[in-house]
Amino acid sequence: MDTIAFIGLGHMGAPMALNLIKAGYSVQVYDVQESSMASLRQAGARSATSASEAAQGALIIFTMLPAGRHVRQVYEGSQGLLQSAQEGALLVDCSTIEAQVSQDLAAQARQRGLHMLDAPVSGGTAGAAAGTLTFIVGGDEPALERARPYLEAMGKNIFHAGQAGAGQVAKICNNMLLGVLMAGTSEALALGVAHGLDPQVLSSIIARSSGRNWATELYNPWPGVMPDVPASREYQGGFGTALMLKDLGLAADAAVRQNSAVPLGELARNLYALHAAQGHDKQDFSSILKLYRGRD
Ligand code: NAD
Repeated sequence: MDTIAFIGLGHMGAPMALNLIKAGYSVQVYDVQESSMASLRQAGARSATSASEAAQGALIIFTMLPAGRHVRQVYEGSQGLLQSAQEGALLVDCSTIEAQVSQDLAAQARQRGLHMLDAPVSGGTAGAAAGTLTFIVGGDEPALERARPYLEAMGKNIFHAGQAGAGQVAKICNNMLLGVLMAGTSEALALGVAHGLDPQVLSSIIARSSGRNWATELYNPWPGVMPDVPASREYQGGFGTALMLKDLGLAADAAVRQNSAVPLGELARNLYALHAAQGHDKQDFSSILKLYRGRD
């Protein structure tokens, strides 16, 4: 039975690690928050007291951390994974971070005789729990083939976007579009409701018309329109506003590097920044609707 290390057990990492356990792998976990390891221990994981301890004896090491600085913290330095991973180990970072950080870490890994993939995901917490995530992978093809069986235990679609960092670029393009679509969907629903329309009826109309999109079909921002989405549980769980703001910042930085025009992405970043500043940073990003409804 292969030993896998999994570091970062938040909204996404915990259900992903759980799916590896269910697939029969022996999983060693670590998170700075001790409490987030409890459910994994109950499911059969061995918990460690540091990332380097979790990496001991692991053929493959997954990380699922908030942002680039956390990823650097876990990989670099004398206690980092780049030092503590066993020879020949494969490192797979599933966090959404700057493409340059992924490229830099992959180069450092190569120098140490390790292989590294950036493999950010799409599909949200529901996809993580159901094992239906989409993995968007950057790195060498042989490394991806080595990772594939493990990725298949956690996801349904696996795309090879290109070399190191390419997974991150594809992921932020997707999330920039998602941020724009969620803000636009909220704007349209708020306009209709202000004119007396029922949000459920309007959502059904849009979902079968040319304005249809992922938010109207699967992740409606209006409370009560859809069961089992964050909007219907006071925007708890899901994909935090702070994380969407981070991804829109990554897209804006990437645009500056290539002199690309991203006016809608920039506008969306400003909307989510305002929304976060109003105290909604921990709520799901679909709570951007509140900016349009004007009340809690
Ligand atoms: P989260 O904040 O819920 O989880 C991150 C976990 O990392 C936390 O448990 C935290 O304690 C842990 N952590 C932080 N620093 C650490 C360290 N140095 N060592 C060990 N553990 C550490 O975040 P999340 O929602 O699980 O998202 C993780 C990544 O996945 C982010 O990059 C996010 O952008 C991306 N993502 C999230 C979603 C979503 O729907 N939540 C969807 C797709 C992609």
